[in-house]
Parts: sequence; structure tokens; C-alpha cells
Amino acid sequence: MGNRNGDLEVVDAVVVGSGFGAAVAAQRLAEAGKQVVVMERGRRYGPGDFARTPAQMGRNFWDPSEKLYGLFDAWSFRGTEGLVSSGLGGGSLIYANVLLRKDEHWFVHDSPLPGGGYEHWPFSRADLDPHYDVVERMLGATPYPYQDTPKTNAVERAAVAIGMPAVRPPLAVTFARPGEAPAPGLELPAAGYGTVHAGSRRLTCTLCGECDIGCNAGAKNTLDHTYLASAAHHGADLRTLHEVRAIRPLGEGGGYLVKYVVHEPGAKGLEDTRTRSLPERSIVARRVVLGAGTFGTTFLLLRSRASLPGLGPALGTRFCGNGDLLTLLMDCTLDGEHLPVDGGTGPVITTAVRRPDALDGDGWTGRGFYVEDAGFPGFLGWLVETAQLRSAARRAAAFAWQVVRNRVLAHGRSNISADLSTLLGDGRLSAGSLPLLGMGRDIPDGTMSLHEGRLAVDWTTATSRAYFDEMRATMERLSDALGASFKDNPLWWAKRVITVHPLGGVPIGRHVGEGVCDAYGEVRGHPGLHVVDGSAMPGPVGANPSLTIAAMADRAATRMLEQDWSRPTATSIAAPARARASVVPGATSVAFTERMTGPFTLDQTDPQRGAEIARSLRDHLTFVLTITATDIEAFVADPLHRAEATGWVESNVLGGRLDVERGWFHLFVHPRGTPGRRMLYRLWLRDTAGSPLTLLGAKDVEDDQGLDVWADTTTLFVRVVAGHLPPPEAATHAQALAVLADLDDGLGPTAPDKTLGAGVLVIKPWDLAKQLTTFRTQGDAGPAALAQFGRLFLGELWDVYVADRLAGRRGGVRVGTREGR
Ligand SMILES: Cc1cc2nc3c(=O)[nH]c(=O)nc-3n(C[C@H](O)[C@H](O)[C@H](O)COP(=O)(O)OP(=O)(O)OC[C@H]3O[C@@H](n4cnc5c(N)ncnc54)[C@H](O)[C@@H]3O)c2cc1C
Ligand code: SF4
Repeated sequence: MGNRNGDLEVVDAVVVGSGFGAAVAAQRLAEAGKQVVVMERGRRYGPGDFARTPAQMGRNFWDPSEKLYGLFDAWSFRGTEGLVSSGLGGGSLIYANVLLRKDEHWFVHDSPLPGGGYEHWPFSRADLDPHYDVVERMLGATPYPYQDTPKTNAVERAAVAIGMPAVRPPLAVTFARPGEAPAPGLELPAAGYGTVHAGSRRLTCTLCGECDIGCNAGAKNTLDHTYLASAAHHGADLRTLHEVRAIRPLGEGGGYLVKYVVHEPGAKGLEDTRTRSLPERSIVARRVVLGAGTFGTTFLLLRSRASLPGLGPALGTRFCGNGDLLTLLMDCTLDGEHLPVDGGTGPVITTAVRRPDALDGDGWTGRGFYVEDAGFPGFLGWLVETAQLRSAARRAAAFAWQVVRNRVLAHGRSNISADLSTLLGDGRLSAGSLPLLGMGRDIPDGTMSLHEGRLAVDWTTATSRAYFDEMRATMERLSDALGASFKDNPLWWAKRVITVHPLGGVPIGRHVGEGVCDAYGEVRGHPGLHVVDGSAMPGPVGANPSLTIAAMADRAATRMLEQDWSRPTATSIAAPARARASVVPGATSVAFTERMTGPFTLDQTDPQRGAEIARSLRDHLTFVLTITATDIEAFVADPLHRAEATGWVESNVLGGRLDVERGWFHLFVHPRGTPGRRMLYRLWLRDTAGSPLTLLGAKDVEDDQGLDVWADTTTLFVRVVAGHLPPPEAATHAQALAVLADLDDGLGPTAPDKTLGAGVLVIKPWDLAKQLTTFRTQGDAGPAALAQFGRLFLGELWDVYVADRLAGRRGGVRVGTREGR
């Protein structure tokens, strides 16, 4: 697959993730003859591969740092819990197969949001209908065919009783062999495009009710059995356990550098399995199609923000949980007798009760929603059950504590897969109950951001309260109609909801202020970067969202295929030229090389805070600079002690090694009104996108009591800001000195929107020892020039640490040349 450019693999498209958006896009592009690589972080699961024993289920979560490489990826945020999937086929592996179209009137336009702005869908149902048709055909959508399933009949009866008749929504499940009547457990013929699970066989639906924990019969028409198999048939390369970490645009030739890691579950001797600790690899693609889901894609773009300057202010906005609310009907009865609803028979969802919206007319008010049966042993049922069973109380308490600790104490962790793994233990089913899952048009006013390097979601039920109250009331009426005892989900008391339909974060919109992407999912300012998953939604779908995500991806793929696909050129991948120190004719130069390294991370402005956070994230920055005083006489005489800096900077969060295009170094300047000195660094860099960056660094040399000369001269506080900040201009040396010395805290202007990151670098003793061997001179003065430099350096230190003390004062040291000392 792919061509090579130097050491780099070059392909037409990298598709990130393999869920509804990604799989559809991958298939369409591969079918059109494009070279496609699909990178999916999770494993491949064929029929029979899904966990079933309590021990397997207990480890069936995604958290590589805990050596968990399983199917469920659970998150806990302020106001909401989220559950998504990790595996080839994404959410289709654990979803409940419902394929409903978004209601025609729910494609709202200019619907105001409480915090400002609008929910606006820039296309209509009619625009999507042809794409809905295609996806439904590919996924084999068909209504549930059996008439004797207890839970289906129970909900249908209850729905009639409350005046909202239920429908049987199309399900992506195979119930019958071609041309035959539905019958459970019959072997299915192979699809024309083959399979990605060699040696496996698929059966018609056995009605086992296990759709949410993976269909071991292969009856679910999941994406691996359909779109991804077809993509592979057309040459797409499906790579599992490949997790994408960053995206960097290339230069003028276009295209993107995609950085990824490969997980190796069970690899011997691999102690540190955290994603950020694994070696990073790269691939180049003309187009990158992001389908990593609402959490995955938004997280990836927030982390890549430094090198994707086109990402607008809408990044992280419009989050919502598609109005999800889970409740439980316990002990259903009919005429006072026990009613066996038998939640374990039939696919997880078989019916849908639709409550219209004010937008539909007909006199309804408020926001519309759907209520569906959610059979056992769906994963959500396990959660509910865990809260009910005494035997699970201890684990539940520990889990609740973890959630509270994360939320109330802002303990920093948002991924709770490992905690859930502990909580579930050997969980068993409770009987005689039927969960209900509601979803609809909640308010998409949540925000997603990075908090100490982790994904944070700020969304609560507050603004959607009326919507949730109405849905809950409808569920209670269904419960009454079934003679059942109505239970809220265990987190509802804390005004929290569990969503299995997270949406938004990278919304489409009419302009850069409203949407990161245009109406086709292409990221504004970054041609060839596309978003095709739930994160692109500008608001709730209302109905179950997968079909809409897939239809939008199909529409986006059609648009992509109409665009220019010329490959990135070699020149676009080449690094920018390095700066060389200038030569002053007749002068003697002095040069030395220093290496400094330390913790550095993005989204921080305070170097010390940045360093603290970077340590936990293992984010870092290193530079190797050759400092050249091109004319030692002028250098010594100049009160600014200016020298040139050349070399490179390397940081995992800035996209790797970046050459210094131009650099300034000041050995010692004297901040006004303080006794100390400052060494200043200013380096012009360019990230892999070609966007200008400036690294500003300051070492403070100040006698603040104690023998800290080592720490002072080896500790550099750094910030990286967007753009090439010019050195301050000033008419005279004295003015320049004042400007330089007084710049903020030595690091220069730091408007928060310009600062990309901050940290603290040090020289390790070994590097200092090496630095001492790097001093070189060129020119007639030779060793005398070195001596001049040494006298200047040591003279200033003498002033700061010794002379002031001898004179009984701690301030006001004269700044000037050191001649005569
Ligand atoms: C229990 C349950 C039941 C559901 N039932 C229904 C239903 O009946 N009908 C319906 O319409 N919807 C249902 N859903 C929701 C549905 O699954 C999601 O809306 C849908 O899967 C979202 O599709 P997506 O393309 O946005 O991303 P996903 O399907 O979530 O796919 C994202 C993929 O990207 C991968 N990934 C993430 N980050 C990276 C990375 N950095 N590098 C590489 N890969 C990455 C993930 O592992 C995942 O495979 C259900 C969900 C759950 C949890
Ligand atoms: S009920 Fe669900 S899990 Fe069971 S065979 Fe049918 S589709 Fe598969």
C-alpha cells in the first residue's frame, strides 16, 4: 500500500477510526480507486470473539494505560457519562441496530442557543434522503419481523394505552436467509465482497438479546461485515490497534502528516503501555478523514490545535448527548398478575414511541423525542442492575466514589473505563424488568476542551430540563400502563445522564464562528481534512444518530471525490532550511553549543504550571542551540550582549523536530529595579504546517538568598507563541535595553490567544560538561576572545552573587561592560 517518500509512506487517504462515518467514507473512497488506509485503535472482533464470561467482561474496556484493550470506552464528565466503543466497526459493534432517519422538521435553522449563537443545520432532509437510501440498503435495514416477542408486545400495548402508538424501526440485523421467511440461527451465505473475518460464519438472528455486548452470531449487519468488508475488497488497508495521535498539515504541496502509535496487547517486557509512551510513527496522506467519534475526533483536534491554525473558535462547541435518558421499569404486571416482559428475548431494541415536537405542528409543544425498549443484557442494563444488587454495593460505592472524586474534587481523570471494569466484576442479570432508552432534541450547548491534557466536557441537564421532565413523564406513563414500578437511572439523582449518543465538538456551520467544518464536513482553513462522524453534528439528531452520521459521510465522500486528489509532493514534505550564523569580516567570533530539555505542554501560559502538567503527560521540549557572538568585541561592548542562535527545537506536542529559522540570544540584560540579570532567548520556528512560531525563553540570574547559582543559570522558563515575534525595536541601546529587560516576566508579550504552550527547561550536568567542550573561536583574536567572553560571563555572576553581598546591598547593580575587571 502507498508510495514512499524517503522513509515516509504516502497514501491518498488516511481514515481515522472505523465507525459509521469512517467506514462509509473508507468504502466510498476505496471503491473509487483511492489508496485508503483505515487506522482503528481497537481490535478486530469476528463472530464468537465477543466477551461473555464475567472475567472477560471485567476486562472488556479500553484503557491501554491499564493494559485494557477491550470493547467499551467509558467516560465521566461534568453532568454526563458517555459510553462509546473501541474496535473495528466502532459503535456498530455495541449499538442496538436502530436505523432511523432524522425527522424532516428537526433540521432546524437559526434556533437560538441559551449562551448565544444558533443551532443551524445547513442542509435539509431532502438533501440527505438519497444518502439514507444507500446506507439503508448496504446495512440491510429491516423492521423486527417476529410477532410473539413479549417485550415488543408489552411496549406496543402500553404505547397504544398512552395514545402514542409505537413503530418498529428498521434494524440492521439479518433475520432471514435471502428469499426465505425469518428463522433463528440459520447459516448465511457469504457477501459478494467477502469478509474481514476469515474462517468465520454468520447466522440469522438467534434473538439472544446481546446486541449491546457484541453479536457472536454475526447476525448484526455491523460495519465490519458490510462497509469495511467492501472497503477491504476494494483495496483499503484496515489497520487495527493503530491509534492516531496528531495531524500536521504539510506545506504548499498539500496533504497531511498523520502521527500514530501501534498498541501491542500482551507484548512481552512492555511495562509502560500508555499511548503517549509508545513510539510515534508517521504516514503522509493527501486527505485525512476523521471518523474517530465525538470524543476521539474532538480530542485529536484539540490536541493538534497548535499545528492546525485554521481551526476556528467553534472547536469544542455544540456538544450534546442527543437527549439520552435511561430509566427502568421493574416488576411489570397485567391485571395484577406478573407480566414476563422477558427483556432477554429479541434484539435489544425492537420498538420506538415517537413524541412529536412543536416543530411538527399538530398542536404539540416543546421538544420531540423517542422512547425505545432496551432489552437485557444490554450494557446499560448492567449498570442499572449493579446499582440494584446488594452484592455489587461495595464495587458500586467504590465506582461512585471515583466518579465523585473526579467531578467534585476535579481529580483530573475523565476516562473511567478501568473503574467500570472493577465495578462490573461478575455482574449478573436481574429479571422481570425492562429498561427504556429515550433520546431526542436536547440543547447542544455543551463545550469540550482540554483540561490538563485530558478531554473535558462541560454540559449539564440544566438548559434541557423541560425536555427531560417531559420525557420522564412519558416514560412514567408507559410504566403505569405496564403496571410497573418506575426507576430512574442511578445517576439521575445527581442530575446526571448517561449518553450513548455523544454528538458535537467539531460542528458544521455556515461560517468559521459557527462551524469548524463546512456543510460537507471539510475543515475550514485546512483543505483535505474532513470530519465525518458524530462530532460534526451541529445539534442533536433526535432519533438514534448512526444512520444520519453514515448518510452525512456518504454525502461528504461524494463531495471529496469531486475534488482535486493530486498527491503531496516531495517539496511539501521537506523541512525548511536551517539558519546559519552570519560571518563578520575581520572580526573574531565565539560560539558554543548548549542543550536544554524539560517538561513543556500546550494550552498553558505559566511555565511552572505548564511544567507540572507536562510531567504528568510526559510532554517535553528540547533544544540544541549554537550560540554565536559573531564579533566578540562588539558583543562585549554592547550592553545587550547580543548573539545569534541556530539549531533546532524538538517537542512531541509541536510535531517533532523544528529547525530554528532565526534566533536571538542575550547573555545578560538587567531588568530595571531588580538586582538580577536575565538571559533571553527568542527563536523563530515553523511547525510542520509551515505556520510561524516563536519560542521565548528567559533565565533569571538573581541572588534570592542561598547558593542557587547553578539553578539560576541552568533553568530556562519558556513559552511558545503563534507567529514570528520580532525582537523589540528601539532607537537607542539604552531604550532597547529597557524594553528587553522589562518585557513582561522576561518572556515577552503573551496574549493568551497567542500563547500555545509553556514549560521549564534545564541543562543536565552532563550536557553542561559537554557544553564546556564546545566553545570555539574563529578569527585572529583566538583564545583572547574566549577569555573576553569568560570574563563577561563570570564577571556578571560575580556581580550578582558576590559583589552585592560584599557591598551590603541587594540591588542596583550597574549594567555595562565588564572591561577593567
Ligand atoms: C449501547 C449503545 C447502543 C446504541 N444503539 C444505537 C442504535 O440502536 N442506533 C443508533 O443509531 N445509534 C446507536 N448507538 C450510538 C452509535 O453507536 C453512535 O452514534 C455511532 O457509533 C457514532 O458513530 P461515529 O462514526 O461518530 O463514531 P464511532 O462509531 O464511535 O467510531 C469511532 C471509532 O474511532 C475509533 N477511534 C477513536 N479514537 C481514535 C484514534 N485516535 N485513532 C484511531 N481510532 C480511533 C474508536 O475506537 C471507534 O472505533 C448506540 C451506542 C451504544 C453505546
Ligand atoms: S439478538 Fe442481537 S446479538 Fe442476538 S443474534 Fe440477534 S442481533 Fe445478534
